[in-house]
Amino acid sequence: MAPGEFHSNNWRQSCAEQCPPEYEGSGQSSRRCPTNNGSRDITGPLSVLAIVQYILLWERLQDVSTTRGVADQICWRWTFSQMYSAKSAYNMFFCGSTRLPGADLLWKTWTPPRVKLFMYTVMHQRTWTVERRKRHGLQDNDTCILCNQSPEHIEHLLLHCPIAKKIWWETLSAVGLSSRFVNDTLGTFDTWTAMRTGLPKQAKKAMDSLFMLVAWHLWKERNSRTFNGKAASVAEISDRIMDEARAWVAAGAKNLGSVMSRE
Ligand SMILES: [Zn+2]
Repeated sequence: MAPGEFHSNNWRQSCAEQCPPEYEGSGQSSRRCPTNNGSRDITGPLSVLAIVQYILLWERLQDVSTTRGVADQICWRWTFSQMYSAKSAYNMFFCGSTRLPGADLLWKTWTPPRVKLFMYTVMHQRTWTVERRKRHGLQDNDTCILCNQSPEHIEHLLLHCPIAKKIWWETLSAVGLSSRFVNDTLGTFDTWTAMRTGLPKQAKKAMDSLFMLVAWHLWKERNSRTFNGKAASVAEISDRIMDEARAWVAAGAKNLGSVMSRE
Protein backbone atom coordinates (compact mmCIF):
# COMPACT_ATOMS: atom_id res chain seq x y z
CA MET A 1 0.00 0.00 0.00
CA ALA A 2 1.41 3.34 -0.96
CA PRO A 3 1.60 6.09 1.70
CA GLY A 4 -1.66 7.99 1.96
CA GLU A 5 -3.80 5.09 0.73
CA PHE A 6 -4.64 3.73 4.15
CA HIS A 7 -8.31 4.67 4.09
CA SER A 8 -9.05 3.81 0.49
CA ASN A 9 -6.90 0.71 -0.05
CA ASN A 10 -8.92 -2.50 0.12
CA TRP A 11 -6.30 -4.51 2.04
CA ARG A 12 -8.58 -5.16 5.02
CA GLN A 13 -11.88 -3.93 3.67
CA SER A 14 -11.82 -0.32 2.71
CA CYS A 15 -12.03 1.95 5.73
CA ALA A 16 -13.88 4.41 3.55
CA GLU A 17 -16.61 1.77 3.10
CA GLN A 18 -16.56 0.53 6.69
CA CYS A 19 -16.46 3.86 8.50
CA PRO A 20 -17.78 6.68 6.25
CA PRO A 21 -18.18 9.33 8.99
CA GLU A 22 -14.70 8.63 10.35
CA TYR A 23 -13.34 8.70 6.78
CA GLU A 24 -14.97 12.03 6.05
CA GLY A 25 -13.61 13.45 9.30
CA SER A 26 -10.04 12.51 8.50
CA GLY A 27 -7.86 15.02 6.66
CA GLN A 28 -8.44 15.41 2.94
CA SER A 29 -4.75 15.79 2.13
CA SER A 30 -3.31 12.86 4.07
CA ARG A 31 -5.47 10.00 5.32
CA ARG A 32 -3.40 7.78 7.50
CA CYS A 33 -3.63 5.01 10.02
CA PRO A 34 -5.28 6.17 13.29
CA THR A 35 -2.69 4.24 15.31
CA ASN A 36 0.16 5.97 13.51
CA ASN A 37 -0.49 9.65 14.26
CA GLY A 38 -3.38 9.65 11.80
CA SER A 39 -5.57 11.15 14.53
CA ARG A 40 -3.87 14.49 13.82
CA ASP A 41 -5.49 14.45 10.39
CA ILE A 42 -8.98 14.52 11.85
CA THR A 43 -10.33 18.01 11.82
CA GLY A 44 -13.59 19.67 12.73
CA PRO A 45 -16.37 18.39 15.02
CA LEU A 46 -17.04 14.64 14.87
CA SER A 47 -20.40 12.99 15.23
CA VAL A 48 -20.93 10.33 17.90
CA LEU A 49 -21.04 7.72 15.14
CA ALA A 50 -17.70 8.88 13.76
CA ILE A 51 -16.11 8.71 17.25
CA VAL A 52 -17.46 5.17 17.79
CA GLN A 53 -16.17 4.07 14.37
CA TYR A 54 -12.82 5.65 15.08
CA ILE A 55 -12.49 3.68 18.32
CA LEU A 56 -13.54 0.42 16.59
CA LEU A 57 -11.05 1.08 13.81
CA TRP A 58 -8.34 1.74 16.37
CA GLU A 59 -9.03 -1.64 18.04
CA ARG A 60 -8.90 -3.46 14.69
CA LEU A 61 -5.54 -1.90 13.88
CA GLN A 62 -3.78 -2.47 17.21
CA ASP A 63 -1.55 -5.15 15.68
CA VAL A 64 -0.79 -3.16 12.54
CA SER A 65 2.31 -1.03 12.24
CA THR A 66 3.15 1.09 9.25
CA THR A 67 6.51 2.47 8.23
CA ARG A 68 6.56 5.76 6.45
CA GLY A 69 7.99 5.50 2.95
CA VAL A 70 7.98 1.70 2.86
CA ALA A 71 5.49 0.07 0.54
CA ASP A 72 3.51 -2.92 1.87
CA GLN A 73 4.06 -6.39 0.54
CA ILE A 74 1.91 -9.48 0.62
CA CYS A 75 3.17 -12.16 3.04
CA TRP A 76 2.03 -15.79 3.40
CA ARG A 77 1.13 -16.16 7.08
CA TRP A 78 0.99 -19.98 7.16
CA THR A 79 4.75 -20.62 7.04
CA PHE A 80 7.58 -19.28 9.23
CA SER A 81 9.42 -18.08 6.14
CA GLN A 82 6.23 -16.30 4.98
CA MET A 83 6.72 -17.95 1.60
CA TYR A 84 3.81 -19.83 0.01
CA SER A 85 3.91 -23.60 -0.18
CA ALA A 86 1.19 -25.96 -1.36
CA LYS A 87 1.66 -28.06 1.79
CA SER A 88 0.97 -25.12 4.10
CA ALA A 89 -2.07 -24.15 2.04
CA TYR A 90 -3.39 -27.70 2.28
CA ASN A 91 -2.75 -27.80 6.05
CA MET A 92 -4.54 -24.49 6.42
CA PHE A 93 -7.80 -26.12 5.28
CA PHE A 94 -7.64 -28.47 8.28
CA CYS A 95 -6.94 -25.86 10.97
CA GLY A 96 -9.24 -26.52 13.90
CA SER A 97 -10.29 -29.95 12.67
CA THR A 98 -10.27 -32.89 15.08
CA ARG A 99 -8.97 -36.36 14.30
CA LEU A 100 -11.19 -39.35 14.89
CA PRO A 101 -9.34 -42.04 16.89
CA GLY A 102 -9.00 -45.06 14.63
CA ALA A 103 -9.74 -43.17 11.40
CA ASP A 104 -6.48 -44.29 9.75
CA LEU A 105 -7.09 -47.88 10.84
CA LEU A 106 -10.62 -47.73 9.53
CA TRP A 107 -9.68 -46.64 6.01
CA LYS A 108 -6.68 -48.99 5.72
CA THR A 109 -8.63 -52.10 6.68
CA TRP A 110 -9.68 -54.47 3.90
CA THR A 111 -13.48 -54.44 3.78
CA PRO A 112 -16.09 -53.56 1.18
CA PRO A 113 -16.79 -49.79 1.12
CA ARG A 114 -20.29 -50.16 2.56
CA VAL A 115 -18.84 -51.81 5.70
CA LYS A 116 -16.27 -49.03 6.08
CA LEU A 117 -19.02 -46.47 5.80
CA PHE A 118 -21.04 -48.29 8.43
CA MET A 119 -18.06 -48.38 10.82
CA TYR A 120 -17.46 -44.71 10.15
CA THR A 121 -20.96 -43.91 11.42
CA VAL A 122 -20.44 -46.25 14.39
CA MET A 123 -17.24 -44.50 15.45
CA HIS A 124 -18.92 -41.12 15.09
CA GLN A 125 -21.89 -42.35 17.19
CA ARG A 126 -24.17 -41.58 14.26
CA THR A 127 -25.98 -44.89 13.72
CA TRP A 128 -29.73 -44.67 14.21
CA THR A 129 -30.15 -47.10 17.06
CA VAL A 130 -33.43 -47.04 18.98
CA GLU A 131 -31.61 -45.46 21.92
CA ARG A 132 -30.68 -42.55 19.65
CA ARG A 133 -34.18 -42.40 18.19
CA LYS A 134 -35.62 -42.21 21.71
CA ARG A 135 -33.14 -39.48 22.62
CA HIS A 136 -34.39 -37.48 19.65
CA GLY A 137 -38.02 -38.00 20.66
CA LEU A 138 -38.80 -40.30 17.72
CA GLN A 139 -39.97 -43.28 19.77
CA ASP A 140 -40.61 -44.31 23.38
CA ASN A 141 -38.97 -47.71 23.59
CA ASP A 142 -35.17 -48.07 23.43
CA THR A 143 -34.76 -51.72 24.37
CA CYS A 144 -32.13 -53.77 22.52
CA ILE A 145 -33.88 -56.06 20.08
CA LEU A 146 -31.19 -58.75 20.40
CA CYS A 147 -31.33 -59.31 24.17
CA ASN A 148 -34.40 -57.34 25.27
CA GLN A 149 -32.51 -56.31 28.39
CA SER A 150 -30.72 -52.99 27.89
CA PRO A 151 -31.01 -49.78 25.88
CA GLU A 152 -29.90 -50.30 22.30
CA HIS A 153 -26.84 -48.08 22.31
CA ILE A 154 -24.47 -48.85 19.44
CA GLU A 155 -21.70 -50.07 21.77
CA HIS A 156 -24.16 -52.31 23.60
CA LEU A 157 -25.48 -53.68 20.31
CA LEU A 158 -22.07 -54.43 18.79
CA LEU A 159 -19.97 -55.25 21.85
CA HIS A 160 -21.68 -55.57 25.23
CA CYS A 161 -24.96 -57.30 24.40
CA PRO A 162 -24.99 -60.95 25.63
CA ILE A 163 -26.01 -62.10 22.13
CA ALA A 164 -23.22 -60.04 20.56
CA LYS A 165 -20.69 -61.52 22.99
CA LYS A 166 -21.75 -65.04 22.06
CA ILE A 167 -21.26 -64.24 18.38
CA TRP A 168 -17.88 -62.65 19.04
CA TRP A 169 -16.81 -65.74 20.98
CA GLU A 170 -18.02 -68.14 18.28
CA THR A 171 -16.31 -66.19 15.50
CA LEU A 172 -12.99 -65.66 17.27
CA SER A 173 -12.91 -69.31 18.35
CA ALA A 174 -13.55 -70.45 14.78
CA VAL A 175 -10.37 -68.72 13.56
CA GLY A 176 -8.20 -69.61 16.57
CA LEU A 177 -8.32 -66.14 18.11
CA SER A 178 -10.52 -66.81 21.14
CA SER A 179 -7.75 -65.42 23.36
CA ARG A 180 -8.49 -62.00 21.83
CA PHE A 181 -12.06 -62.00 23.14
CA VAL A 182 -12.69 -58.83 25.17
CA ASN A 183 -15.20 -59.30 27.97
CA ASP A 184 -15.24 -55.70 29.09
CA THR A 185 -17.32 -52.55 28.64
CA LEU A 186 -14.83 -50.59 26.58
CA GLY A 187 -15.78 -48.27 23.76
CA THR A 188 -15.71 -49.35 20.12
CA PHE A 189 -12.20 -48.20 19.27
CA ASP A 190 -10.75 -49.32 22.62
CA THR A 191 -12.23 -52.80 22.16
CA TRP A 192 -10.87 -52.96 18.61
CA THR A 193 -7.43 -51.88 19.85
CA ALA A 194 -7.49 -54.41 22.71
CA MET A 195 -8.34 -57.22 20.28
CA ARG A 196 -5.49 -56.48 17.87
CA THR A 197 -2.71 -55.33 20.23
CA GLY A 198 0.09 -57.88 20.51
CA LEU A 199 -0.84 -59.85 17.40
CA PRO A 200 1.66 -60.35 14.55
CA LYS A 201 1.29 -57.82 11.74
CA GLN A 202 -0.69 -60.06 9.39
CA ALA A 203 -2.99 -61.30 12.16
CA LYS A 204 -3.59 -57.69 13.21
CA LYS A 205 -4.84 -56.83 9.75
CA ALA A 206 -6.97 -59.95 9.74
CA MET A 207 -8.43 -58.93 13.08
CA ASP A 208 -9.23 -55.49 11.67
CA SER A 209 -11.27 -57.01 8.85
CA LEU A 210 -12.87 -59.52 11.21
CA PHE A 211 -13.83 -56.81 13.70
CA MET A 212 -15.67 -54.84 11.06
CA LEU A 213 -17.23 -57.98 9.58
CA VAL A 214 -18.73 -59.11 12.90
CA ALA A 215 -19.98 -55.60 13.71
CA TRP A 216 -21.55 -55.39 10.25
CA HIS A 217 -23.42 -58.68 10.70
CA LEU A 218 -24.65 -57.73 14.16
CA TRP A 219 -26.05 -54.55 12.65
CA LYS A 220 -27.66 -56.52 9.81
CA GLU A 221 -29.24 -58.93 12.29
CA ARG A 222 -30.56 -56.00 14.29
CA ASN A 223 -32.09 -54.55 11.11
CA SER A 224 -33.58 -57.90 10.13
CA ARG A 225 -35.28 -58.23 13.51
CA THR A 226 -36.36 -54.58 13.59
CA PHE A 227 -37.67 -54.15 10.07
CA ASN A 228 -38.50 -57.67 8.86
CA GLY A 229 -39.38 -59.42 12.12
CA LYS A 230 -36.94 -62.23 11.27
CA ALA A 231 -34.54 -63.46 13.96
CA ALA A 232 -31.57 -65.77 13.37
CA SER A 233 -29.89 -67.90 16.02
CA VAL A 234 -26.34 -67.30 17.24
CA ALA A 235 -25.17 -70.33 15.23
CA GLU A 236 -26.83 -69.03 12.06
CA ILE A 237 -25.32 -65.58 12.44
CA SER A 238 -21.87 -67.07 13.12
CA ASP A 239 -22.20 -69.23 9.99
CA ARG A 240 -23.13 -66.19 7.92
CA ILE A 241 -20.09 -64.32 9.24
CA MET A 242 -17.77 -67.17 8.30
CA ASP A 243 -19.38 -67.46 4.85
CA GLU A 244 -18.86 -63.77 4.19
CA ALA A 245 -15.29 -63.96 5.55
CA ARG A 246 -14.56 -66.66 2.94
CA ALA A 247 -16.11 -64.44 0.27
CA TRP A 248 -13.88 -61.52 1.37
CA VAL A 249 -10.82 -63.76 1.20
CA ALA A 250 -11.82 -64.87 -2.31
CA ALA A 251 -12.23 -61.19 -3.23
CA GLY A 252 -8.71 -60.32 -2.09
CA ALA A 253 -8.58 -60.08 1.73
CA LYS A 254 -5.23 -61.92 1.95
CA ASN A 255 -4.56 -61.13 5.60
CA LEU A 256 -7.97 -62.37 6.63
CA GLY A 257 -7.19 -65.51 4.65
CA SER A 258 -4.18 -66.17 6.90
CA VAL A 259 -6.44 -66.74 9.91
CA MET A 260 -9.30 -68.33 7.98
CA SER A 261 -6.96 -71.21 7.14
CA ARG A 262 -7.05 -72.13 10.84
CA GLU A 263 -10.72 -73.13 10.61
ZN1 LIG B 1 -28.69 -56.40 23.81
